[in-house]
Amino acid sequence: MVIMDGKEVSEALKRKITAEVDKMVSAGRRRPKLVAVLVGDDGASQVYVGHKERACGQVGFDSEVVRMPASTTADELNAVIDRLNADDSVDGFIVQLPLPGHLSEEAVIERISPLKDVDGFHPETTGRMISGLDAYLPATPAGILELIKYYNIETAGKHCVVIGRSNIVGRPIANLLSMKGYPGDCTVTLCHSRTADLKEIVRGADIVIAALGKAHFVTADMIKEGAVVIDVGITRIADPSKKSGFRIAGDVDYDNVAPKCSYITPVPGGVGPMTIACLMQNTLKAAERRTKR
Ligand code: NAP
Repeated sequence: MVIMDGKEVSEALKRKITAEVDKMVSAGRRRPKLVAVLVGDDGASQVYVGHKERACGQVGFDSEVVRMPASTTADELNAVIDRLNADDSVDGFIVQLPLPGHLSEEAVIERISPLKDVDGFHPETTGRMISGLDAYLPATPAGILELIKYYNIETAGKHCVVIGRSNIVGRPIANLLSMKGYPGDCTVTLCHSRTADLKEIVRGADIVIAALGKAHFVTADMIKEGAVVIDVGITRIADPSKKSGFRIAGDVDYDNVAPKCSYITPVPGGVGPMTIACLMQNTLKAAERRTKR
């Protein structure tokens, strides 16, 4: 069994990005710039934005966090999005989700210029991706593809079962792995909370992607011997022994599932760091596009 080391792979990807940034700067161009808009005080979102800011520093990007109170109105948030869309010094920006309940995530996503949509959530971006056109891939699915490539995992003709159908993880990764070429050519089954006989379906999978957000949901009895298991889940579980008061759990019962797998991602240290590195990759792509415009 091979542990797919997201830290190692993401560091390798960030080193490549840093080298590209160095080339840009040597050629007299400015550094790529990523802005994160953080509305409210959700603890996990603050941690994620902190990680993104740190990664920007690591790869040599400029970055900025626009912090807005939980009471921010739709008009106030729209004004910030419009300003960032128009600001030539900003290559890409993200509005960290989830948003406070009174704000529409769909409306916010649609307001972001597709040119700066480095999260890859805009419907135009999604349409391009599904059509197989060049697009910013959403960072978590892109990170999964990078891991598959790094470990040379065979995908053609494999049965891939994705658990979870969100627009940011399950649906796009199911789509991408069904595309022609590598990493793709899978036969994909997309499962969700209304799927009948889920255990039986997962048992038939060569590749399992768990993205449902239920700690340790995927158990050893659901896994075929030699399967590849990719765990996207991040759930905080109360743990008084930790300073923070919680620990992070994945969607897979790792200790019991790992011995049956050919490859498996740990949580933390699997898909999570890849997601951040792929956001950096999208921002670099946005900066490269800007200089071509
Ligand atoms: P989400 O929007 O909450 O969607 C969860 C999906 O799982 C839904 O499609 C839901 O089905 C399905 N589901 C829930 N319970 C189920 C069950 N018992 N059986 C089968 N399917 C079930 O989730 P998300 O945003 O995609 O996130 C999923 C997990 O990944 C979360 O833990 C999140 O924190 C984590 N995540 C990690 C990263 C990373 O970088 N590692 C990035 C993004 C998300 P219905 O559609 O029928 O409700």
